[in-house]
Amino acid sequence: MREITTCRSCARYIAPDFSYCPYCGTGRVRSYEFRRLLDTPFARMEQEVQEYSLLRLERIERQLEVLDGDLQHLMEHLLERNSL
Ligand SMILES: [Zn+2]
Repeated sequence: MREITTCRSCARYIAPDFSYCPYCGTGRVRSYEFRRLLDTPFARMEQEVQEYSLLRLERIERQLEVLDGDLQHLMEHLLERNSL
């Protein structure tokens, strides 16, 4: 099955392997299709980056909790020493 493209300038049907419209000469007839092909992986990549960022944030949050606990222990230890 052959894909059919329309010219973005004169809207006539053009074979998809044409880079220029044979009727009006408009270039990059398939710009929309190329854009769509490019947008799909980019959107997926963006989503993966967002998910990765969330995972990193969660990990940082857990590390901060551990650090907070350590800091509390240290403070308690220092207060104990000072009170002696
Ligand atoms: Zn055209």
